[in-house]
Amino acid sequence: VIRATIDTQVFNALVQKVRIGKTGEAYLIGENGLFQTPRRSGGDLMEKDKDSKDYLTRHEGIRTFIRKDSRGDEFLYATTWLSEKNWLLVVRLEKHDAFSALRSASYAIVFVLILGISGIIGISSYLSNRIVRRMTASDAEQERLGSQLVRATRLAELGEMAAGFAHEINNPLQIIRSEQTLIETIMDEMKGKGVLAATDDTRELEDSLSQIKLQVDRCAQITQAILKFGRKGEPVSQDIDLKKFIPEIMRMVAKKASVHGITLRERLDDNVPTIHGDPGQLQQVLLNLFNNAFDAILTRHGSAGGELEIGARPAGDGKLEIWVQDNGSGISPDNLKKIFSPFFTTKPVGKGTGLGLSVCFGIVQNMGGAMEVESEQGKGTKFTITLSAASR
Ligand code: ADP
Repeated sequence: VIRATIDTQVFNALVQKVRIGKTGEAYLIGENGLFQTPRRSGGDLMEKDKDSKDYLTRHEGIRTFIRKDSRGDEFLYATTWLSEKNWLLVVRLEKHDAFSALRSASYAIVFVLILGISGIIGISSYLSNRIVRRMTASDAEQERLGSQLVRATRLAELGEMAAGFAHEINNPLQIIRSEQTLIETIMDEMKGKGVLAATDDTRELEDSLSQIKLQVDRCAQITQAILKFGRKGEPVSQDIDLKKFIPEIMRMVAKKASVHGITLRERLDDNVPTIHGDPGQLQQVLLNLFNNAFDAILTRHGSAGGELEIGARPAGDGKLEIWVQDNGSGISPDNLKKIFSPFFTTKPVGKGTGLGLSVCFGIVQNMGGAMEVESEQGKGTKFTITLSAASR
């Protein structure tokens, strides 16, 4: 009897080499349920597979299913009948093993999802908080600017009203003044004619008249000053000699400085060149710098120990520098960035408008110059104005 058969060694090795995951295995089983190749997880050649009755049904192509084996473990099976052979090729692996990759992928997906969602929630709540904070801050800023604008407008209206009053008061003052002159002239004439004797009473009358003249002149001076202040007028341009101009301004503030115990110092270089500009506007700039310096000095020192220096010197290249330096409270780095902005003030309501420095900045720019500030909190502040010398 000649028996032809396949080289089972090679075939077994080939089938047994199939390894999927940790528990995956492949084997052949005959239609009688006997192993045609040994099974790694138990089952020798030609031994009966106890579980085969569950899947040994005839079918076309590849069939996949999940079954429990006789020990109760769940397996994922893939089976196919070999063509023209009554052998079934079975590939199986434990269900737990088969789905472990899927399971770890799902865990990873869930983890990424949770991480992503919490990230999105975290970022969006952070962003929305920031936006809300910004909106609240900008609302508050808008409100502050609004109220400052109202205050500034009110001040401007007040200025106009004051100018109007001054104008109205000026006319009656002129009438009083001319009536007073008339009375004086008549009295002089009467004295000349001998109608009026030079008694104590007439002397008292004369004193009263000169007192009226003095007071009316004072009132006229005040109304003139208010009118001058309120008048906008075109800027006049003329040569300004700083060696005369600065001492004049110092005289204007000397009284206020001495009342507050502030020492004033002038450092005017002999060679400081003349400048060309509007003296009224330059005066406004310097007076504003002085007033701010006085406030800062009072805040830090009270009524003793204040020092204020003004100086002017050539700065080369046809330019010159004017500086105003105080030993007042100084300005914080944050505020330093804002002090030239209109309406920025740290002064209480009614005291500061926040317009002074922004107006000064504009004036100096119009004069073709620049204004800079250096300050250290608790030490003092120095404003430096750079201007071009007048061309000869
Ligand atoms: P205002 O004097 O009405 O507040 P300014 O524009 O003149 O307006 O000044 C803006 C702000 O700049 C002041 O409120 C003050 O905080 C600050 N500042 C200006 N000059 C000085 C100074 N010499 N020392 C300290 N702070 C100053």
